[in-house]
Amino acid sequence: MADESQRATDREIEAAAQIILEAEYTIALTGAGMSVESGIPPFRGPGGLWTKYGEPPMNGFEIFLSDPKKAWQQRLSRCNDELFAPLQRAKPNPGHLALAELETIGVLRFVITQNIDDLHRQAGQKALAEIHGNWKLIRCLECGSRFRPEEVSLETLPPSCPRCAGLLKSDTVSFGEPIPSDVLGVCATQASRADLVIVAGTSATVYPAAGFAIEVKQRGGVMIEVNLYESELTRVCDVSLRGGAADVLPRLARTIADGRRARMH
Ligand SMILES: [Zn+2]
Repeated sequence: MADESQRATDREIEAAAQIILEAEYTIALTGAGMSVESGIPPFRGPGGLWTKYGEPPMNGFEIFLSDPKKAWQQRLSRCNDELFAPLQRAKPNPGHLALAELETIGVLRFVITQNIDDLHRQAGQKALAEIHGNWKLIRCLECGSRFRPEEVSLETLPPSCPRCAGLLKSDTVSFGEPIPSDVLGVCATQASRADLVIVAGTSATVYPAAGFAIEVKQRGGVMIEVNLYESELTRVCDVSLRGGAADVLPRLARTIADGRRARMH
């Protein structure tokens, strides 16, 4: 937890809730900070997965394509080891649940996440783009269909697409792999509609995700940042709410829900 004196005050939360209530079309961009609050270690830094297990090769996609069978064998042999254990164990935190709640009451229209951990889905988020994929899903490199593991036969490796017989790969986007165009298209459409973006748990420095948030701002929209620490966005955003997403987002959602009820009466 960051310095308690920095934690967003109720007054700041109320002001942000008011702005969100006045917006026409609110989207959110989320990142690793939200996963960390669900017990998933970050990739980089002390205790990070890559610090421990080595950074994945920058040409991971090329390696996959050069020998998909071997890549699949390696993945299946690792899927129960320590690298995947935190992902297996992780549950949505109050921040994920708050965003799903805001969707249910019609305030939040779409979430773009950089996280691969499936937690927004588990929280019940329906309108969602996972820009770096979802570690639980398998994607066809030909037709782009996504499958749950039980929908695919892994008897012959590499597995092939039940729809088009194309090559299947983990949906997680590897280094060197283009982000699937269907996902990019949806994100671009959503960003072009939005007049408010909530950026939570990310310093939004990784493109293309960051670009979608910045686009909203550049078109005259509002940017609200929820982050434990000051980030590069703090200078450009309209409202900066200091604190973890698991702390700030539920407070924000509660205040918004109360505000809506008050308006209806
Ligand atoms: Zn296919």
